[in-house]
Amino acid sequence: MSAPEPTTDTAPTTDTAPVSEPVTVRALVARGSGAELRVERVRLPAPGPGEVRVTITAAGVCHSDLSMANGTLAARFPLVLGHEATGVVAETGPGVDLALGTPVVLNWAPACRDCWWCRRGEPWLCAATTAPTVPRGETDDGVPLHVTLGLGALAEAVVVPERAVIPVPAGLPADQAALLGCAVLTGVGAVRNTARVAPGEAVAVVGLGGVGLAVLTAARRAGATTILAVDVAEAKRDLALAAGATDFLLADDRLSKEVRARTESRGVDHAFECVGRAATIRAAWRLTRRGGAVTVVGMGAKDDMVSLGALDIFHSARTLRSSVYGSSDPDREVPVLAAELADGVLDLGLLVSGTIPLDEAPAAFDRLARGEGARWVVTLD
Ligand SMILES: [Zn+2]
Ligand SMILES: [Zn+2]
Repeated sequence: MSAPEPTTDTAPTTDTAPVSEPVTVRALVARGSGAELRVERVRLPAPGPGEVRVTITAAGVCHSDLSMANGTLAARFPLVLGHEATGVVAETGPGVDLALGTPVVLNWAPACRDCWWCRRGEPWLCAATTAPTVPRGETDDGVPLHVTLGLGALAEAVVVPERAVIPVPAGLPADQAALLGCAVLTGVGAVRNTARVAPGEAVAVVGLGGVGLAVLTAARRAGATTILAVDVAEAKRDLALAAGATDFLLADDRLSKEVRARTESRGVDHAFECVGRAATIRAAWRLTRRGGAVTVVGMGAKDDMVSLGALDIFHSARTLRSSVYGSSDPDREVPVLAAELADGVLDLGLLVSGTIPLDEAPAAFDRLARGEGARWVVTLD
């Protein structure tokens, strides 16, 4: 037997990692349903095992955040809004194999890779889907805090599971890269993965927010030759045409007639509903040809019921389905979109209505509620 080791050797060495501490950051907080939004200081926990802290560089203001804040979607408060963002890895918890400084895009629906849906290749339907609001950290006055879709990205930083971050190339325009994680993945995926729009087909896009415009540009790239952009706001016309629409149509009572006049009286092959309301789902249904497909991309309210005639369902032979997160695998598809953005193949400049500091985010929610612009993006230094 060898002699016992000197006990002094068991003392901590100087290269031991520093002990992580909670951090205080500024974040956009909703204190209750319909309450005025405010930028507050909040305390985020240190990243635990398998978690990372990401310093946010840009975050989009998405309609789902508005739905959380105004009570359309059930939420728990106080709540940090935001789920569409890009940033850099600032700190890693135990067991995380990501270099500090890695640029990432956030994923609000990280897949478990082990449930029945994940194993059959449908990670967007993962059984371990993130809850709409997840407890994390606390407010400056010590109230337990929640974060939107496990992220709470309208903030200077987030602490999230490692699988909720997707590494992307350095040097992307932050305001555009932020959109890859929600509006763009959702819109592009709806066209490519869910509807599988083919060259020469006719498409209608109802609702021209960030997602609707992403659908438009993707339909153009898919080779659709008739692309009808539909919105209640005439102000969206120029934006829609610039984004690739062949025509802009106002959503009024002449809409079905106007669409048929442009589709040899048939209606479109694909209608994309990007609002999330029963009335616009019905409108999209009526714009679609017999045997065509309606893809619901907008997330609506639980009690907003869609009514369709039984004979109409049979006779029209239409398909009505939804596209959750673009029926996509973010871990595989965000890097592809990021590479396209880096190469200039994908230009998302049109989707960004403007970049604003965090303090102006409440005003951006007001503009979103009024249907103004495409995507307002908060940029942080
Ligand atoms: Zn979103
Ligand atoms: Zn799963």
